Amino acid sequence: MALVTHQGQCHCGVVRFEFDEEAHLVAWDCDCSICSMKRNTRIIIPASRFRLLQGQDALSCYQFGTKTAQHLFCKTCGICPFYRPRSKPDGYAVTLHCITSPTVAGMEVKQIGGSEWEAAMAASGTDGSVR
Ligand SMILES: [Zn+2]
Repeated sequence: MALVTHQGQCHCGVVRFEFDEEAHLVAWDCDCSICSMKRNTRIIIPASRFRLLQGQDALSCYQFGTKTAQHLFCKTCGICPFYRPRSKPDGYAVTLHCITSPTVAGMEVKQIGGSEWEAAMAASGTDGSVR
C-alpha cells in the first residue's frame, strides 16, 4: 500500500494539516445527530499519520453525549477540518472536503448509520473506525 501526503485546511486557512493515506480514499458519511447537521464525510486515520502544521491555538472543541469524540473547529471560520472521533479516540477523522492538495486520485464514500451506534459498528465490518 503506497501512501501519499495529503494536505488540508480550514476555510480561513489558520488551521493547516497534512496526513499520509492512499491516493484513493475511503470516506464515511454518517447520519448521527452532529454529522447530519454538518454534512460530515470523513476519512479515519491513525494518529501516527497525522500532522498539524499550524493553528493549534485557533482550535476550539465541542463535546456532547459520551464526550468521547473531540469535535474540533476553527474559532475564526467555524470549520471542522479534522477531529478526534468517538470510534477511534486515539486517531483522527479528516473532513473529506477540507483536503486542498491535488493528491486525491479517487474516493469511495460509504454510508454509516451512526444514529443507531451499536448496530452501525457491528455492521460496518471495521474496527469501528467510522465516527
Ligand atoms: Zn479557520
